[in-house]
Amino acid sequence: MKLHPVALVGAGPGDPELLTLRAAMRLQNADVVLADDLIDARVLALIPASTRLLRVGKRGGCISTDQQFIHALMVREAQAGHRVVRLKGGDPFVFGRGGEEVDALRDAGLEVEVVSGLSAGIAGPAAVGIPVTDRRHSAGVVLVTGHPGEGRDEPDWAQLARCGLTLVVYMGVARCAHIAARLQDGGLDPATPAAVVSAAHTQRQRHAVCTLATLAETVRREALPSPALLVIGSVAALAAVDAAAAISPCRVAAG
Ligand code: SAH
Repeated sequence: MKLHPVALVGAGPGDPELLTLRAAMRLQNADVVLADDLIDARVLALIPASTRLLRVGKRGGCISTDQQFIHALMVREAQAGHRVVRLKGGDPFVFGRGGEEVDALRDAGLEVEVVSGLSAGIAGPAAVGIPVTDRRHSAGVVLVTGHPGEGRDEPDWAQLARCGLTLVVYMGVARCAHIAARLQDGGLDPATPAAVVSAAHTQRQRHAVCTLATLAETVRREALPSPALLVIGSVAALAAVDAAAAISPCRVAAG
């Protein structure tokens, strides 16, 4: 029996209109979909009723499905001849352990197709008016994790403080006080604009703009919903004022 390749599909940050056509097609044709927690309900609603949907969420700090179990489940379903879609938030290869899933599938002798998606770190800031690589602000952007995972080294915040690039921190809200302190220790100006972009491209989207010095206090006060990203760098000050005005009294004036 010729087995189908397993499709690792990026679901984008939320709004189903941000799915690629290929992602939508793979969802239509799947026999079984293994979906992350972060997937928007409106994306899940596109999965045909006859398709089995398995929720294999992994939320930081909560009881979650073990990664090895997810690997074994994908392999078992694919080896049974099913069309398997592994549906992951954003882009499958931007954090979220897509690379490890590809390795596990290949080790089991299966073919893998990776369907790229819009990553929250680019599309999220854009949703609130932040062009992450605006050349008037910096020569580039660093996508970095604020939660490296058990037993892994932290990013070198002191080095990042000096790099002159915009920082987009995934999984960083819970540790934002620590991250902001390390960046300031590394020499980044406390007045550097910062933004928190929360549940971007979902119906719960919110954001706040502040400075590196007021980041932790802003996160605490605004109680922004997860998932959320931090954007640190002068370009963060370009975030739209209107939606932010009511919730971010600490907004710094641009320029
Ligand atoms: N593969 C995903 C990222 C997975 S890591 C991607 O490319 O977008 C999970 C982290 O992504 C969250 O902790 C949060 O920092 C960020 N994130 C995911 N979806 C988000 C959204 N809709 N709004 C803001 N941040 C989001």
